[in-house]
Amino acid sequence: MEDDIDRVLVGRDQIATRIQELARQITADHTGAEGETEITLVPILTGAMVLAADLMRHMPVRMKIGLMTVSSYPGRSLRTQGSNVLGTQLGDISGRHILLLDDILDSGGTLRRVVPMLQEMGPASVRVCVLLRKDRPAARETPVDYVGFEIPDEFVVGYGLDFGDYYRNLPDIVTLKKAVYAPPPP
Ligand code: 5GP
Ligand code: MG
Repeated sequence: MEDDIDRVLVGRDQIATRIQELARQITADHTGAEGETEITLVPILTGAMVLAADLMRHMPVRMKIGLMTVSSYPGRSLRTQGSNVLGTQLGDISGRHILLLDDILDSGGTLRRVVPMLQEMGPASVRVCVLLRKDRPAARETPVDYVGFEIPDEFVVGYGLDFGDYYRNLPDIVTLKKAVYAPPPP
């Protein structure tokens, strides 16, 4: 797996530092005059599960977890094929403050589909946090509340992000060598 890495774009220490900053900011933004508000953290699976696990342990607030599974880059595709909500496990989110987490903001298609779907369920608020935002107009035009890192418009893996469902367990955000993307021999 290590041999497939081309470049490290965002290293594990940089990620850890930024996650603590994000957690502090998000926690402060969810603390009102009457004290803290409860949060329902909703990671978009599978990509945001690593982000969720790290972020939540720096957020000392009462929280519940909701889950949504969305597929946008099925299999070995490198461009979004349109996002598909495969399943949800949200419980009753009416009146609750939702913090939606995604690994990366690319075309914005996922958030355009998922945010209105959550809003229809009557939550008190929906805020969105993405770990990465690609440098392309479609991504910049999609409203989000928190961004971990701005990255170039390249295909990345690691820290939850996959290629063909592999590489999610890499601790750094990396690009892969060109040969990895070559179609498998017949
Ligand atoms: P969007 O819906 O904004 O186009 O893309 C969001 C989803 O597409 C992400 O949650 C992620 O699953 C996938 N995606 C977008 N860009 C990349 C990338 O560079 N690498 C990987 N592994 N997945 C990506
Ligand atoms: Mg994803």
